[in-house]
Amino acid sequence: MTGIRPRQWVAVHRKHHAFTDVEGDPHSPVLLGFWRVQLTNAALYRKVARDGHTTERYAKDLPPDRWDKLLFDHAFIGLGIGIAMLCLVLGWRMGLLAAAVHAMSYLALNAAINAVGHSFGTKRYPNTAFNNQWLALVTGGEGLHNNHHAAPTSAKLALGHHELDLAWWVIRLMVLARMATVRLTETRFVSRSSSSTIG
Ligand SMILES: [Zn+2]
Ligand SMILES: [Zn+2]
Repeated sequence: MTGIRPRQWVAVHRKHHAFTDVEGDPHSPVLLGFWRVQLTNAALYRKVARDGHTTERYAKDLPPDRWDKLLFDHAFIGLGIGIAMLCLVLGWRMGLLAAAVHAMSYLALNAAINAVGHSFGTKRYPNTAFNNQWLALVTGGEGLHNNHHAAPTSAKLALGHHELDLAWWVIRLMVLARMATVRLTETRFVSRSSSSTIG
């Protein structure tokens, strides 16, 4: 219920991994500049998701299921339900305020993962992304973006001793409560960064 269709998000995200910081990357600050990605990230997603071939090509293994057709493909229904629930719980004034704050921080933090995560920070592995622990603390580990590009299939983003990925703890609790399963339990590194690691 985030205002973007899950299949479109997956497609844009997979394209980003296929063309990281080179021609074809949907949201690279190296190609487009830091501020363009930080300030217009959602528009960049929309543009690529609706170009008529990215979603078809990169999410063809994910045909829309019943829930997609009923709910998730209508991004604004989800958004409306979310806002309505906040208003029911908090009253309409605080509900709308909470929705606005949530929407803005959601957009800004998502953009930061792409803009900051490909502009500055530290590197553990030889790829074009960076780790920023401060960003990881407010994005459920996503700020450890260098790690993510090194091991894209790993649900756990903290790979070093002093790194913290709070979402991984949530995932582990959900696994303990039998609410989730982790498909790949060993950390698999993509080939170009598997041979040598920094630090
Ligand atoms: Zn990235
Ligand atoms: Zn990714």
